[in-house]
Amino acid sequence: MKNSSEMLTKYIIVTGGVLSGLGKGIAAASIGHLLSSKLKIIPIKCDGYLNLDPGTMNPFEHGEVFVLDDGGEVDMDFGHYERFLGVTCKSTWNLTMGKVFDMVRKKERRGDYLGKTVQYIPHVTDVIKNHIFQIVREETPDLVFVEIGGTVGDIENELFLETMRQMKEDVGRDNILYIHLTYVPIPYGVSEQKSKPTQQSVNLLRQRGIFPDIIIGRCSQFLAKEVKSKIANFCDVQPNAVITGLDVENIYEIPVVFEQEGLPDIIHKKLNLYSPPDLRKWKKLIENIRSTKEEITVAMCGKYTKLEDSYASIIESFNHCSAHLKCKIHLKWVETTGLKDASFLDHIDGVVVPGGFGSRGTEGKIEIIRLAREKNIPLLGLCLGLQLTVIEFARNVCNLKGANSTEMDPDTPYPVIDILPEQRKIIDKGGTMRLGAYPAILKDKTIVRSLYNAPEIKERHRHRYEVNPEYHSVITEHGMIFSGASPDGKLVEFIELPDLRFFVGTQAHPELKSRLEKPAPLFYGFIKACLAYKNRLPT
Ligand code: GLN
Repeated sequence: MKNSSEMLTKYIIVTGGVLSGLGKGIAAASIGHLLSSKLKIIPIKCDGYLNLDPGTMNPFEHGEVFVLDDGGEVDMDFGHYERFLGVTCKSTWNLTMGKVFDMVRKKERRGDYLGKTVQYIPHVTDVIKNHIFQIVREETPDLVFVEIGGTVGDIENELFLETMRQMKEDVGRDNILYIHLTYVPIPYGVSEQKSKPTQQSVNLLRQRGIFPDIIIGRCSQFLAKEVKSKIANFCDVQPNAVITGLDVENIYEIPVVFEQEGLPDIIHKKLNLYSPPDLRKWKKLIENIRSTKEEITVAMCGKYTKLEDSYASIIESFNHCSAHLKCKIHLKWVETTGLKDASFLDHIDGVVVPGGFGSRGTEGKIEIIRLAREKNIPLLGLCLGLQLTVIEFARNVCNLKGANSTEMDPDTPYPVIDILPEQRKIIDKGGTMRLGAYPAILKDKTIVRSLYNAPEIKERHRHRYEVNPEYHSVITEHGMIFSGASPDGKLVEFIELPDLRFFVGTQAHPELKSRLEKPAPLFYGFIKACLAYKNRLPT
């Protein structure tokens, strides 16, 4: 049942139509950014698939799995929310249909439905609403964004849409606003913005009892006045409530476009709240990205290189560095499976070896790491990247021939990367990973310590394997420095090679906490080193 916090809280529901992949998450996060100056905003994302969370999904299909401080594996849109809203999200804010059905089944087994027939309406929709209202009770936000994944008309999102329809009665019609994101194509040869797909999509939404207050039309140009009036007329919204969702090079420009289109005013009026946007700092940073003075090329050596969404947070971390170092960063995607030719290293200014699972492509990465070490090219190893850096060092510097991770080679004579006994017990019980934010103590007088400028830091993790403690001493005796470790000293969190310009690895994923206003320290240090390397400056 409603209580006062649910009544005081305002709701913005974001749905999408026509096409998937139009950037609903970025649009929602951008609107949130514009409203966040005075308001506490909580983003909730509803996904129609039946997995409990995206943790088990292939990044090829679903893009990056974003990891939160609390260890939740959530949809990559949470990356946009955290970056645009400055909030630390919680895993309960990602509701999948898998989680919803799980809750309904548990309630049914517990006897909560007292002999009734359990039905989609009201039982499933009530569970969704109660989940949202529970978050509202716990967080007492001023504003909640609920983004419904997928496209209107998809069968798997119908129950979420139905719930959103019902919500207006629960929270009061003046406290809820519906935004629909569609696509306005300009077909080749016609050279005219076409509103029909938007009209049809809004029709589908209206059939479901949702009447959008604001329509955002994604388009390669600003929407023409006539097109806005046409959409307004056919879709029954005010002409000023039809907003351009402009194609942009840099996603951080979207809040600026929305502000220019007058979006905050419409929301303020409809929801009776006032939170004026202050984009001064933000605009300065995106101006820096537009007017970069230098250019570098970084090789991204991975195996999901065909889908950039798999590395969304890394790409964003580079954008954040661009804004602070006024440097354009070109990415060269290097597929390391079956790598034959590493001559590309002559034309790049730094190497990133990102996270990953399984053995495919790892030997190619190890070879690239060896060459980067020998040529003193800046290198940043992230999670699996740290592990492979340790393996390369063990094989070629410590002379442990055949050293490997037991993930790639269970019979390796030198398992320098392994599952620790404590972790194995947990895995045997149900196969879980070390997930979420963990502290690390940083060693004095190391690159990592100076970049973080703090003796203890926290970064997010998503892995099973660790640097094997049995090999700590042989590795450090040969000159690798463990520049950060877990507070009990057992787990290696950061490594570096002191004689090279920048050869750093971390077991964590610092890209997950990078922000436009404050780039992740290791990325910042890495890009600075790439610039110095390009200009052949002394280290
Ligand atoms: N596969 C490695 C592990 O599980 C690395 C994981 C990662 O890079 N996120 O430890």
